[in-house]
Amino acid sequence: MNKNDFNEGLLGFLDASPTPFHATLNMTMMLINAGFIKLEETQKWDLKEGSKYYVTRNDSSVIAFTYSGAKNYTMIGAHTDSPNLKLKPNPVIKEHGIVKFGVESYGGLLLNPWFDRDLSLAGRVSYLDSKDEIKDILIDVKKSIVTIPSLAIHLDDKANKDKTINKQTDICPILTTNSDFDFDEFLKWQLAKLNILDVKELYSSELSFYDTQQAAFVGLHDDFISSARLDNLLSCYVGLLSICSVESDKPMLFIASDHEEVGSESTSGAGGSFLENTLRRMFKDYDDYMSMIRSSVLISADNAHAIHPNFPTKHDKEHSPLLNKGAVIKINANQRYASNSTTISKFMNVARRLKEPYQQFVTRSDMGCGSTIGPITATRLGIETIDVGLPTLGMHSIRELCGSDDAFSLYKIVVGFKA
Ligand code: ZN
Repeated sequence: MNKNDFNEGLLGFLDASPTPFHATLNMTMMLINAGFIKLEETQKWDLKEGSKYYVTRNDSSVIAFTYSGAKNYTMIGAHTDSPNLKLKPNPVIKEHGIVKFGVESYGGLLLNPWFDRDLSLAGRVSYLDSKDEIKDILIDVKKSIVTIPSLAIHLDDKANKDKTINKQTDICPILTTNSDFDFDEFLKWQLAKLNILDVKELYSSELSFYDTQQAAFVGLHDDFISSARLDNLLSCYVGLLSICSVESDKPMLFIASDHEEVGSESTSGAGGSFLENTLRRMFKDYDDYMSMIRSSVLISADNAHAIHPNFPTKHDKEHSPLLNKGAVIKINANQRYASNSTTISKFMNVARRLKEPYQQFVTRSDMGCGSTIGPITATRLGIETIDVGLPTLGMHSIRELCGSDDAFSLYKIVVGFKA
């Protein structure tokens, strides 16, 4: 594996994963290719030493692990969700000669960049089939079907000064001028394209809009990767490729959780029981379970803010991550990040040994600090944790930017890490 192959694969993964459901499905397919065996949470587990397994929850979170009897696990955690616009259950609004959609904003999304983009729709649809069974299916319309036009500057003289955006009224994507549009018929047509023709009733769906512009290298020397959902599919990809690369006798676990952007409080979020439930089934004896927890390390990987060259005062001068200068260790005295000097030193030691660069980030003392799944998982399980991330610009925009050297570098550190 070299950097170019790694990045090409990353671009493909970003484009094929418009929602956490699609990201999870794509990751499970890569895990199967790498020899991982599927486990069902609803069935009895009979784990064999020397084998590798994966399990999903809600089709939107996944855990993969090697199983060798060893207890000192290197765990890497990331999240599958990104801020976006989600379709409401009764989404169709017909007014002023236009059919448009009502949307909810999911997570802390930067709203401005959503205007004037060519958007498509993807997610999970639940329906009743001809045997009266409820089935779930993932759809991805792929084609640009809606857009959210800006208001012309002539009608908004404050547009470049103090623009505010109303989430209920200002960001409804527009679909068509044909007022005959029927949403259920539209969904049935999408299912028919997947050869699903026995739809008796459509019940519920979780559908999100996404930018159809594909992930791309940008910069004179392809210095940057520009894409939607770099936060946090970038870290998912690093974690996934890491666990797919290691030998099955190395104790390693990868978890990608949903709902981080809204606080992780769900069955498939890091605040839920998914990881703990899985680890307890791997280590049934409580003493074994606890010695595994206390001898393991979680690398919580979530993008970090690179210093923005146009807004340098937003960073602490001594802790300003640069693009293409390596993974960022995130530190916060108030435990918004779970890194401590012991886990940081372990990470630095591996990076030094591999001659990979690293940087340290502390937010300005007069500014608030974001958080990650790191402190949540550390609190729930009592596992020693380090928060790291790849330097990123435009976080939570519809299109984010990272350096093209950094993800491969973090991948090498994670593969080389020993808890
Ligand atoms: Zn994130």
